[in-house]
Amino acid sequence: MFLINCPHCGERDQSEFNCGGEAHIVRPKNPLNLTDDQWADYLFMRKNIKGIQFERWNHSNGCRRWFNVVRNTATDEILKIYNIGEKAPQIEGNNPKTPSGEPIIGSGNYSTSFEKKQ
Ligand SMILES: [Zn+2]
Repeated sequence: MFLINCPHCGERDQSEFNCGGEAHIVRPKNPLNLTDDQWADYLFMRKNIKGIQFERWNHSNGCRRWFNVVRNTATDEILKIYNIGEKAPQIEGNNPKTPSGEPIIGSGNYSTSFEKKQ
């Protein structure tokens, strides 16, 4: 558990919020021109970083408004909270090293997508 400072309500327990996934995913301008693989990448492929990640959060048990959070997913440290529509802030930080030395990108969807494009 950790606290999140909702930009509209103030500091609340994390249990009042839902994470909406990676922030700053831009819808393609011409979706009809995309291949099935490109459309699937847009819909489903996310980075799933162990470390500093930009996420959308919703205060679902409060004001129900959305906002963006920069969070270290390894420690749950929140580095910045800003409104939807704002440009992603420049965040300086060290991503933590993993115990076995694997890359910060997890073994989830991004790895599969990354390998497919090579
Ligand atoms: Zn709120």
